[in-house]
Amino acid sequence: MFSYESIAQYHTALNNNSTSCKSEVEFYLKQIQLKQHLNAFIDVFADTAREQAQKLDDAIAAGQPLLPLHGVITGIKDVLCYKGHPVSAASQILENFTAPYSATVIQKLIDAGAIVIGRLNCDEFAMGSSNENSVYGPTLNDLDNSRVPGGSSGGSAVAVQAGLCMVSLGSDTGGSVRQPADFCGIFGLKPSYGRVSRYGLIAYASSFDQVGIFAKNIADTALVLEIIAGADEFDSTASVKPVPAYSTALQTNTAFQKFAYFKDAVEHPSLDPEIKTGLLAYFDRLRKEGHTVTGVDFPYLDYIVPTYYILTTAEASSNLSRFDGVRYGHRSKREISDLAEFYAHNRSEGFGREVKRRIMLGSFVLSAGYYDAYFTKAQQVRRQLFDQTQLIFKDFDAILSPTAPGTAFRFGEKSNDPIEMYLGDIYTVFANLVGIPAISLPIFWHSNGMPYGLQVMTNRFEEVSLLQVSTLLMQFKN
Ligand code: GLN
Repeated sequence: MFSYESIAQYHTALNNNSTSCKSEVEFYLKQIQLKQHLNAFIDVFADTAREQAQKLDDAIAAGQPLLPLHGVITGIKDVLCYKGHPVSAASQILENFTAPYSATVIQKLIDAGAIVIGRLNCDEFAMGSSNENSVYGPTLNDLDNSRVPGGSSGGSAVAVQAGLCMVSLGSDTGGSVRQPADFCGIFGLKPSYGRVSRYGLIAYASSFDQVGIFAKNIADTALVLEIIAGADEFDSTASVKPVPAYSTALQTNTAFQKFAYFKDAVEHPSLDPEIKTGLLAYFDRLRKEGHTVTGVDFPYLDYIVPTYYILTTAEASSNLSRFDGVRYGHRSKREISDLAEFYAHNRSEGFGREVKRRIMLGSFVLSAGYYDAYFTKAQQVRRQLFDQTQLIFKDFDAILSPTAPGTAFRFGEKSNDPIEMYLGDIYTVFANLVGIPAISLPIFWHSNGMPYGLQVMTNRFEEVSLLQVSTLLMQFKN
């Protein structure tokens, strides 16, 4: 019987008729049913998935060559629009909303032969690190159901972790692909800002948001990136830089690499001591193999979380002002006497606690008396970080870091303390602040039975070297 390992192996099986798109769709629909308790899927698009599978099987029967993602069963985070299907950002404010068009990434996936099997649970408007902020309730980590899957793309991570789809898409504004990948023991890639179109992605913080990929291996990650990347007339921030053939550029780079890590990151008091030891031992191993791994000073570490939360909440307060219950979404049934009250009721009822907190924080940092002290200052810090990062990449090929300060925590452990939750983003928000690509590689296991990842970052638009270096680094997995 066919058992999925990679897109390449699946395509071999399709070509020699040992499986079909239809039987794979049925298999995954059954798995989703069997693992319903994980609450990874909000909606299963069984009918459209079956229709697509039939067409894709007919094409094989007619002797047509396979499309690049032929029959690849894909899950999508509930922030990506898929025409004619519901999308809600896991929020009550978008109840009963159906996407009127498809996101560019979704259209590209479908054109490449992928089958979108359903939409996946996440934190409301992608705000969170544990998937506990969803109106549909939390997604459970399949390795330990008492632990969070990470967030905000928790459903996307668990769907791949638990074998409910072959690959999935998430979004990453400050770590929402890498941190859940780390917590679930899979691969999670955030591309460079501008590498992938954001058209049809429900915005959280537009100058940070990128669509990201969850997969079981690097080759699948590279192939999906190759399909979804590129310029888009509907998103002026999507770069016109040509898209390299990521999937065929994976041969291991045999050159010795120059890796940097931030001393302050590894020494940080919030880092789990066992993760620290694991990382340092791994760095030694790399050195023995002939690579250089150098600790560099990076005195900005404690500023990056505040900078991230000032800028993203400011952008969110503006982005989310469109959800007012007038044209679509939740509309309060309470009596109203004027327009302001109408908006207030709709938004008070429609948004959850965390989203409200961020809208208020964002409005505050943008308000007349505080704009310069917070927003302008944070923009300046962002620029500084960018300049410092460019200096680092003059001397080094890649930066290595933990993905998260600890392994997957238990439900409720941090949900009453937003500051503690925010501080967990210390290692991931950096890549979004400076717009560089970053991946979490499932390399380590903790003695508590949970996995944790190594985060790798390269300079902007250097996804090819990121993927090559990742292939190299995976060879030293214990
Ligand atoms: N955990 C971060 C936050 O809550 C990251 C979210 C994201 O990347 N969408 O903002």
